[in-house]
Amino acid sequence: MASDCLFCKIIRGEIPATIIYEDAEIVAFKDVDPQAPQHFLIVPRKHIRTTLDLTTADNNLIGNIYQVAGKLAHDLGFAEDGFRIVNNCNEAGGQAVWHLHFHLLGGRDMTWPPG
Ligand code: AMP
Ligand code: ZN
Repeated sequence: MASDCLFCKIIRGEIPATIIYEDAEIVAFKDVDPQAPQHFLIVPRKHIRTTLDLTTADNNLIGNIYQVAGKLAHDLGFAEDGFRIVNNCNEAGGQAVWHLHFHLLGGRDMTWPPG
């Protein structure tokens, strides 16, 4: 846990968020500035700064995050239509919050290439 990290604060319940899923190692909540009709953030409870800070000890965690993403897409009804999972890494990748997170986007046709 990092005391000044926005997502750690959400995980600790110090900042309100619409939490849609949580387990012992993962929390998912609505993105406050949705870029699609369905836009959620899936985050590990563990404070990991970026994708580049992952180690082999996190391999199961990342697998579990993808399992949660698929389950949420299914439960929320957009799995069959299709969806996108996005992880932005570092400034040029568009990362703004320095706690590893995966965007789960659905409810519209996605475009390619991404912006
Ligand atoms: P990124 O640019 O990949 O670091 O994404 C950060 C995301 O966090 C953005 O999509 C923001 O809209 C979202 N965000 C920022 N503050 C909050 C908050 N308080 N609650 C929920 N989502 C947030
Ligand atoms: Zn954090």
